[in-house]
Amino acid sequence: MKIWKLISRLVAIKALKFYGNRVVLLNTSMILIPIEVFVELHQELIDTTKNEKLINDIIYEVGKLQGYFGTALYIDKYKINIDYNDFSFYMEQARFVGLGNLSAENVDVSNIDILIENKDNPFAKEYKNKYNTNKVVDYFYSGLIAGAASEIFKKNILVKETKCLAKNDPKCEFRGELCETKSSIKGIEQIKEKYTYNNLCKFKLTKKYNKIEDFLKKKYKDLVKIDDTGFYFLDKKHVLFPWAVTIALYNLLENNSISKVDELYYKFGRNYGDFLIANYLKFSKDGRHINITDFCNYLSYYGLGDFEIKKTGTEIKIIHKNNPFLIEAGKFNMKNISNSFMLGVLYSSLSRLLKKNILLKEDGVKFRMNDRIYTSK
Ligand SMILES: [Zn+2]
Repeated sequence: MKIWKLISRLVAIKALKFYGNRVVLLNTSMILIPIEVFVELHQELIDTTKNEKLINDIIYEVGKLQGYFGTALYIDKYKINIDYNDFSFYMEQARFVGLGNLSAENVDVSNIDILIENKDNPFAKEYKNKYNTNKVVDYFYSGLIAGAASEIFKKNILVKETKCLAKNDPKCEFRGELCETKSSIKGIEQIKEKYTYNNLCKFKLTKKYNKIEDFLKKKYKDLVKIDDTGFYFLDKKHVLFPWAVTIALYNLLENNSISKVDELYYKFGRNYGDFLIANYLKFSKDGRHINITDFCNYLSYYGLGDFEIKKTGTEIKIIHKNNPFLIEAGKFNMKNISNSFMLGVLYSSLSRLLKKNILLKEDGVKFRMNDRIYTSK
């Protein structure tokens, strides 16, 4: 048990890199999502669509894709073979990406009886803080465990959450069992085909260092923290998600007749931008001059790509290169996906930074597909 704990932590810490424009874990392009924003996204989807079951089912399937892919990656690519009696490696990895204090209480392979607990689940705790609920909320976690277990046992496993911190139970509890029926969510098989190592684990380094990286390096140990309660960036709890998760979610929402997914992602981007600017202004209080270039470099540290700022008079041009959302969407053949998430992020954060409402006009036509120029009006 102990040795796995050590090895898994070393694997994770060595494998996580901040490149200055991207966050990369095991060569997979990641986005740092504050827990609060993730919780808001889940609730926003339910409120807007008024279809709680469908949204929870879709979130479950997105978690399942992620659980399946992450597990397959360790087993097949990194040859980390697990002992069926010891799941501590996976529990440690889950903790590392910010999912809380998970433990495998019972895993009975022959009868496919799985019991996983999470006594310190940041998502459920945040949900409880924000919204009053008497229901379980951890569909992403349930899916994550289902995907991992299905890959390990090579059987389709269904996971249900039976207790949840969000509804005042003392812990979250997940039970897995064999499942014969297929999911009713449309488009899973097609998107799963794209969840391959060759497709997702091919991050290419573009720009290694920039000013903010030097700045971060000096304070590195204070800014990025990993402990038993999760993953912290600038003192706030975050989860590391592959960009592919945001694409899979977008894809499944569209495939299951949810209208105006672009608007939902714009709202998601705005919530994300609001959070980032608030946190940035807080951490910039040490007298550093706040300017738009520094802020955009900070966005890069969340894994949002490269930014270059050009000012002429009152007009600001933001040249955004290597937009990871669009790069990943391209890998899933979603060439016409709306870039509304990034527009939401930039609109809300820059409006607050510059203390005026800025309207952004987007131009990607003269550029490569993954790059965009946003001009303020
Ligand atoms: Zn829960």
